[in-house]
Amino acid sequence: MDVDVIVVGGGPTGMMVAGELRLHGVEVLVLERDEEPTRVVRSLGLHARSIEIMDQRGLLDRFLEHGTRYPLGGFFAGIPAPAPEGLDSAHAYVLGIPQPVTDRLLTEHAVELGARVRRGAEVVGLEQDEHGVGVVLADGTRPRARYLVGCDGGRSTVRRLLGVDFPGEPSTSETLLGEMEVSASPETVAAVVTEVRRTQKRFGLAPIDGAVHRVIVPAAGVSEDRTVPRRWRSSGNG
Ligand SMILES: Cc1cc2nc3c(=O)[nH]c(=O)nc-3n(C[C@H](O)[C@H](O)[C@H](O)COP(=O)(O)OP(=O)(O)OC[C@H]3O[C@@H](n4cnc5c(N)ncnc54)[C@H](O)[C@@H]3O)c2cc1C
Repeated sequence: MDVDVIVVGGGPTGMMVAGELRLHGVEVLVLERDEEPTRVVRSLGLHARSIEIMDQRGLLDRFLEHGTRYPLGGFFAGIPAPAPEGLDSAHAYVLGIPQPVTDRLLTEHAVELGARVRRGAEVVGLEQDEHGVGVVLADGTRPRARYLVGCDGGRSTVRRLLGVDFPGEPSTSETLLGEMEVSASPETVAAVVTEVRRTQKRFGLAPIDGAVHRVIVPAAGVSEDRTVPRRWRSSGNG
């Protein structure tokens, strides 16, 4: 047996699981498909319960160092919601922190605790017997473990290989997310956002790094195959 537990997927879930297992002395190998960490920012922040868990694990200072605290409140599913009153938490705020930073901090934590991480390792098959699990990687290698944990995201290969269903209703709306350089002044951007959001709540444009902005727009319709990335072409008029 190569290791006690193989964790498939080195996103925030996989790295947190790897760190937790190491705290119990379990030998862990994380198999991550991507050669390099993604630079795409999905999550923009952590909510109170996640922040509490980072605090319990002694990770809070690292997160606070890279994040910005915002008051609670905002909207959920387009519905404006005030901050809950009397929240019983030492961390009743939202911590703005881009997901690539969260991913990096959790990876560093897991590695410091002794987890091994293998990048460029795409799981394409599984073989299970009474002794454990054999993993088939795209490069043909076959690491083995006593247990395997699937943390490979919303379109999990592990779930598909195990034949586990994912029942639910298909989405009736779709939103596109992108990052772009914006040359307009912050005042112009703010005025355009305010104007468009009067009638379209799913529109957003916010700076993330200098001129680079994160833009969110409603898609025209819903894709038939959501595994295929949509291409969004600008008209070239700005
Ligand atoms: C547009 C968008 C905005 C979001 N905003 C927020 C937010 O503001 N706040 C928030 O809390 N959450 C947000 N989320 C959700 C958040 O991004 C996810 O909940 C989080 O990434 C889930 O983590 P995960 O580790 O489970 O999966 P992932 O982050 O998807 O990680 C899965 C990992 O598994 C790897 N993998 C996949 N298949 C294989 C394979 N076959 N073999 C090996 N490795 C594999 C992938 O490369 C990936 O690294 C957002 C998501 C999106 C899409």
